[in-house]
Amino acid sequence: MENSGLPHTGPYIEAPTSLPESSPVAGMLMNGIGVGVIFVEAGGRLAFINRKAEAILQATAGSVLGKMVDMLPLRTPIYKVLSEDCREAPVEVSINGAVIVVESSAMYAPGGEMLGEMFELRDVTEEKKEKRRREEIVAMMTHDLKSPLTVLMGYVQALKGEMPQKVDASLQPCLREMDRSAMKLLAMIEDVLDAYRLEVGLLQINRAVCDLRTLLDGCCRDGLHEAATRGSHLSYSIADDIPPLMADGKQLSRVFANLIGNALKFTPRRGTVTVTASVRNGEILVSVEDTGIGIPKEDLPRIFNKYFRSSSATGFKGTGLGLTISKAIVEAHGGTIEVESVEGEGSRFTVIIPQGQKK
Ligand code: ADP
Repeated sequence: MENSGLPHTGPYIEAPTSLPESSPVAGMLMNGIGVGVIFVEAGGRLAFINRKAEAILQATAGSVLGKMVDMLPLRTPIYKVLSEDCREAPVEVSINGAVIVVESSAMYAPGGEMLGEMFELRDVTEEKKEKRRREEIVAMMTHDLKSPLTVLMGYVQALKGEMPQKVDASLQPCLREMDRSAMKLLAMIEDVLDAYRLEVGLLQINRAVCDLRTLLDGCCRDGLHEAATRGSHLSYSIADDIPPLMADGKQLSRVFANLIGNALKFTPRRGTVTVTASVRNGEILVSVEDTGIGIPKEDLPRIFNKYFRSSSATGFKGTGLGLTISKAIVEAHGGTIEVESVEGEGSRFTVIIPQGQKK
């Protein structure tokens, strides 16, 4: 491969393009920026490449300019990048151990005629490494929080159950509250750890025969207690014909507990939460519907993103991880999770799991 540090003025000017960048000053500016830029004419001819793009793709202007994209050697990074469909959203591509974000946009002449497509290439390798390092530290610290919490929870359990005679009856409500708060803290710790496991591909799904009816019943019963303390109403209906599944019961419990917990959390007093589970066309449908604050329409596409919390959730406690993890768990079971919501009226989350692996 040729050295990319050669002077490039020639090819940029010679390349017949109607872009303003064909002026020497624009060419110089384009070569000075830290983002890779490539321009492909509407007909598919590669008309411009700046120095950063040459360096990222290890391709020289002289060897690629003026060529049709289809004619570039298939296994080269430049072909890989230019054949990505990255118009709607940026795409991450791995090139020689580096992580490159590629984004393209169509360029038009003032008269509306399409001139071609501009590709921007950003090297995010260092950003990614730094992010991963920070996440590792958070995961380590979060993991360390579990040990002292588990000790505290053990003592609370012991005081609650095994030695009630030693504890004044008036203190029992305090113990119950301590127990509930500790469980919530543990669940939050697990969420942070699972978000990390998800990122590094370590979230585990251990399948076994799982009685979904009993599992849902348990989640709804817990919800009943929570609803009572919040002054809301929870009702549920679980169809008798829901078959046992090969699934990770513990993880699916987290999904339903999270959806029910959210529905209760985001529903003001005297609101209603309804859980229904049924079988339809070989799929199990579980929906959790509430009459709560709802989600603004513009937030719906991002609602399953890591750490995303809707503007309407201001003032409500949370990490913005529950839905991300729930979606990953449901998808690991071959299912989907959907949301419908109207701000100020309520939300409905529907989990659909294929019956496929039934036993
Ligand atoms: P958390 O509840 O910890 O904030 P989640 O990932 O479970 O995190 O939810 C992400 C966001 O989705 C919430 O912050 C909230 O904005 C929105 N959301 C989830 N469930 C509901 C619901 N039932 N009603 C209204 N908003 C909801």
